[in-house]
Amino acid sequence: MKKILITGGAGFLGSHLTEKLLRDGNDVLVVDNYFTGTKENLAHLLPNPKLELMRHDVTFPLYVETDQIYNLACPASPVHYQYDPVQTTKTSVHGAINMLGLAKRTRARILQASTSEVYGDPEVHPQPEEYWGKVNPIGIRSCYDEGKRCAETLFFDYNRQHNLDIKVVRIFNTYGPRMHPNDGRVVSNFIMQALQGKDITIYGDGQQTRSFCYVDDLIDAMVKMMNSEEGFTGPVNIGNPGEFTMLQLAETVLKLSASKSKIIYQPLPSDDPRQRQPNIDLAKSKLSWEPKVCLDDGLKETIAYFRKVVS
Ligand code: NAD
Ligand code: UDP
Ligand code: UDP
Repeated sequence: MKKILITGGAGFLGSHLTEKLLRDGNDVLVVDNYFTGTKENLAHLLPNPKLELMRHDVTFPLYVETDQIYNLACPASPVHYQYDPVQTTKTSVHGAINMLGLAKRTRARILQASTSEVYGDPEVHPQPEEYWGKVNPIGIRSCYDEGKRCAETLFFDYNRQHNLDIKVVRIFNTYGPRMHPNDGRVVSNFIMQALQGKDITIYGDGQQTRSFCYVDDLIDAMVKMMNSEEGFTGPVNIGNPGEFTMLQLAETVLKLSASKSKIIYQPLPSDDPRQRQPNIDLAKSKLSWEPKVCLDDGLKETIAYFRKVVS
């Protein structure tokens, strides 16, 4: 049993992580400014006395005692991270500095929720961890991509300079219940549109690809990484290598939700990566992990959740 701090714990991934760590008997402190997360995401866990919630913005210093830190605070969908791009970079960079400072003082182990976006619009496919990426430093996605890249730099410099016990995971597109219905991400958009009988909005020609991981698989990998052998810092890719075009995703959502919505095409946002698929050999060998939930099964769970949201 440990004292665990989760920043961004009221968000989509954070709420699932909180649930899992409480289930395992830990004390969990969730720190969140509720920018994209909500207390409702954790409402079912509030009766548990091992859970504590704190409204706090990680760009400001935080003095608490803890054994482990999962640093998830950061808006994750393009719509949300582009709403206030300066705050997005501050959250990644100042947030990382504060949480690393906290880890240094408490000698806590600290895990960073990094992202496949560090690979940008990749020229290497699928992406292994050794690939340095192709990122536009001044585009509309840069606040997120470069913020997350700088956070990785900070993690590795605190490791080299202060001998901090760090873990870095690069998360590929993840979906599941408790995604924000209006966050503009493709899975939530398509499902909401299908359930409400609205047009399914494909950006561009729909031939760009993504690889979608179900949230339970992702959380399993994140906890395995946190508790992996000392000295294994990562970065390690976690995601599901199953790769789909956005047109295939739209057709699958329509089929599984028995929707009559029609597909329409809208302009592709700038810097939108053409393709993305994780190489997960490292996670397989170091964490003995691979995803178990296929896209159809994960989408069925997610559609069932969104049916309750729209009703
Ligand atoms: P989310 O938006 O649901 O969660 C982010 C949480 O961070 C929210 O609860 C939000 O209120 C909180 N937050 C934002 N800024 C904050 C600040 N300054 N101080 C304190 N709290 C703040 O997104 P998510 O999908 O759960 O993503 C969680 C983490 O995982 C993020 O760091 C994201 O970059 C990373 N990630 C997610 C995915 C994915 O597909 N879901 C992919 C790659 C990386
Ligand atoms: N910090 C924090 N909580 C702590 C310790 C530090 O939020 O328990 C913040 C502190 O505000 C500092 C940052 O983390 O700005 C980096 O801390 P570090 O010790 O690395 O650097 P320094 O204090 O020397 O700037
Ligand atoms: N996308 C789409 N329709 C939507 C929302 C997104 O076609 O309603 C596309 C988007 O252009 C991108 C892909 O789906 O190519 C994944 O987008 P998302 O915002 O979910 O994640 P990211 O681009 O950050 O991987």
